[in-house]
Amino acid sequence: MGERGAGVIAIDCGATNLKAAVVNHQGVLLHRQWKPTEAHLGMPLVVKNLAGLVKELSEGYDIAAVALGIAGVINAHDGIITQAPNFPGCIDFPIREELKQAFYPLNIPILVENDANAYALGEMWLGAGREINSFICLTIGTGLGGGIIFNRELWRGEDGTAAEIGHMVIYPDGERCLCGNQGCLEAYVSAVALSRIAREAFEQRIETRLWELVGSKPEKVTPELLYQTALQGDHFSRQIWAELGRVLGIGLSNLINIFNPEAIILGGGIAQAWSLFMPEAKKEVETRALRLPTQRVKLLQATLGDEAAILGAAYLALS
Ligand SMILES: [Zn+2]
Repeated sequence: MGERGAGVIAIDCGATNLKAAVVNHQGVLLHRQWKPTEAHLGMPLVVKNLAGLVKELSEGYDIAAVALGIAGVINAHDGIITQAPNFPGCIDFPIREELKQAFYPLNIPILVENDANAYALGEMWLGAGREINSFICLTIGTGLGGGIIFNRELWRGEDGTAAEIGHMVIYPDGERCLCGNQGCLEAYVSAVALSRIAREAFEQRIETRLWELVGSKPEKVTPELLYQTALQGDHFSRQIWAELGRVLGIGLSNLINIFNPEAIILGGGIAQAWSLFMPEAKKEVETRALRLPTQRVKLLQATLGDEAAILGAAYLALS
């Protein structure tokens, strides 16, 4: 046994950061490390960065497996990233095989999963879904990811691509989405959507405190800033969050009608602004969704924050 302990290495692999940790059977993060992904420089470098991270983290530990949650459409069975808009040039990329070679001589199982699926598993294991049998998890950050837990197991679909809730169409002729479709939920409920809305509002010369705060550079409007200005009473900022809540509420209504879940758990950076968008989302659910499943469903905030996807990946590797 490694002198520092035993566990698995779990990595939340986003386009910007690799967030990794050695996790033991109790879900304790024994050792954590972050590193830039450098996805814009191509997949060979991403693989190299992952291999470096695993090598550093495994020193002194007895590591049983490595598990990754990746922001992309993942074929978990074959360990392939089929598409990942935030990783340039990453189409049908055999990440597991590439990592196996890069990890050599370390020879341990490598598991690959979609990051939002990993997030849902993390919340199931140690977060807001600890005592919930079946629930749906939404991660609202740069984009909008989803994970479906059915009877304490991940619902993957036939190819492992299920629960792409961000690409549920809300408006048939709506905004272009990164996936190629139009009017997807993610095109209205995500950090990317908020940036677009700020840009458009600036072009339309809409009156708001925001412009003086960012020196008339709308690209500098962040979700955090929008949150602050809304709390300070800026009318436009409050409106943006309310509209985000309204569109989210339409998506939630569809999920509630289709799945009749015990709960829907919302996490990710944007979900921190809960108090600003949730009243509007709930109003929408109450007018649109069917009565019985609406009475049943609990709308909950995720509790594990940044660690949810790491813990979910670890759960996969440990079980
Ligand atoms: Zn889409």
